[in-house]
Amino acid sequence: MAKEEIYTIPLWDAVKDEGECPFCFLEKKLEKDLIDFCLSDAYMQSDFRQTTNKIGFCQSHFRQLFQSPNRLGLTLVNQSHTMEMLEEFKKATQNLKSTKKLFKKKTDEDNPIHKLYQRLTDECYICGRINETMTRYFETFFYLYKKDAAFRDFLPQTKSFCMPHYLRLIEVGQTNASPSVFENFMEESKPHFIENMERVLADMQWFVNKFDYRNDKEPWKDAKDAPKRSIQKINGTLL
Ligand SMILES: [Zn+2]
Ligand SMILES: [Zn+2]
Repeated sequence: MAKEEIYTIPLWDAVKDEGECPFCFLEKKLEKDLIDFCLSDAYMQSDFRQTTNKIGFCQSHFRQLFQSPNRLGLTLVNQSHTMEMLEEFKKATQNLKSTKKLFKKKTDEDNPIHKLYQRLTDECYICGRINETMTRYFETFFYLYKKDAAFRDFLPQTKSFCMPHYLRLIEVGQTNASPSVFENFMEESKPHFIENMERVLADMQWFVNKFDYRNDKEPWKDAKDAPKRSIQKINGTLL
């Protein structure tokens, strides 16, 4: 497989998926693959263990890992993470004194207690890997947009993007794509995005209207799954 095909093929599959956002589709698949990977024999790999020992997982991903039947894999990974964190805890709390006066000019970032807290709560192996790969997908989007007319021509047939992923895509285009490609992209994609947000808003309105007894016998049209699609469109959460 050619190097760029690693990203272009899944991106093509995602835009053809007919969902509310191709990047939500890619992110959900990535997340699932990473959960499976973490619970495979990944714990045997030292680079994987090195990272998970240091940062572990966020609450959402610990929840998902726990839902898998492989509690042994999870416990092995978490055991060495906990051991390393306990060592870090002992270091951070050694000779701990009040910093009320001492650290007055220093920020939280200088405080080892704060740093350790952040590592435990904010950082996550799975989130980190998803972010890295998603960035590649956003870059590949502009590569295809410039190079492949079929890709560009297909976009108006999609349902555009969710708002968070569209914002990230805009940001990547703004900083990486050539100015003419970026301007062209904005001109084509923005009206399409707004139109699709308004379509989902209309579905939400019809969903609400259906709770009025006068609309009892009216059809649901496309509104039955409006709550689910509206969460995706505004939050990038594919339920
Ligand atoms: Zn999305
Ligand atoms: Zn996470």
